[in-house]
Amino acid sequence: MTSTLTAVLDGTELAREIRTYAAAAAAELTASGTPPRLAVVVATDDESSAWYVRSIAGAAARTGIRCEIVDLGPDVGPERIRAALRTLSADAAVHGIVLQTPLPPDASSEDLADAIDPDKDVDGANPLSLGRLAAGLPAFAPATAAAVLALLDHHGIPLSGRKATVVGRSTVVGKPAAQLLLQRDATVTICHRHTKDLAELTRPAEVLVVAVGRAGLITAEHVAPDAVVIDVGTNPTPDGALVGDVDEASVAGRVAGLTPVPGGVGPVTTALLLEHTVRSAARTRAEENP
Ligand code: NAD
Repeated sequence: MTSTLTAVLDGTELAREIRTYAAAAAAELTASGTPPRLAVVVATDDESSAWYVRSIAGAAARTGIRCEIVDLGPDVGPERIRAALRTLSADAAVHGIVLQTPLPPDASSEDLADAIDPDKDVDGANPLSLGRLAAGLPAFAPATAAAVLALLDHHGIPLSGRKATVVGRSTVVGKPAAQLLLQRDATVTICHRHTKDLAELTRPAEVLVVAVGRAGLITAEHVAPDAVVIDVGTNPTPDGALVGDVDEASVAGRVAGLTPVPGGVGPVTTALLLEHTVRSAARTRAEENP
């Protein structure tokens, strides 16, 4: 059986709703003397990273959140990056810290993220945040993984007892997305580059999350007619456009729902980073004024 209609699981409306909430909270916090502030540590001259950081800074500015870009340059060593993260962690006026990737070849975000204060770890990168997430304890989840769940909820997709497959097992997207789906009582399968027959594992999925970074990886043979597909991948095309990991032309009309790229997970991710930052600032405010 093939579905005839594929719902477009748009993320722009949800992102707007989250930003509206964050802007109201930011205004209140600023009025009460705790202006929310986000710091993004950059150590690369990668153009797509620069584009992403500019989009965070622009969205923050429109939301009333101060965003500081700490650009250390592409040649900086890991100790200097660690020192910057520690300084920001100790700065009471900073409420959110993001370590932007890619990093220089001798630096690894997995090694450095423990220098981010978990209370300010708004992109859930510190191993402590990830461990708490795995244990079902309160923590900031990586914003992209949180965006996957927020999109599924926004579009009313039930998760409890359903079969979910996540393709990709990175620390920043695949693994935390799988943890969040598990927390919501989905039955989760995780696939990665060593998975032998990908289609055999993706086809039974009622919810399919794809976070690989390979355009056209998922085609009609990988999906069931009733599947809801969340495409996290972002792949630049030679003509300057952006496509996901799912071959849209191949699966359109064959699945129940698909997120667009761009306009799906991306805007929700940025909005959630801002929401996490105001939540962190609100916690600081509450601690200062019990
Ligand atoms: P990554 O390179 O760290 O991880 C990729 C994962 O895909 C790995 O676990 C690998 O094992 C798996 N993989 C590779 N080839 C595979 C194959 N043939 N079959 C199955 N699995 C395979 O990447 P990442 O940081 O997790 O990002 C994944 C994608 O998501 C990228 O396109 C990235 O740009 C995008 N992304 C988007 C957002 C957003 O906000 N929209 C945020 C973060 C990442």
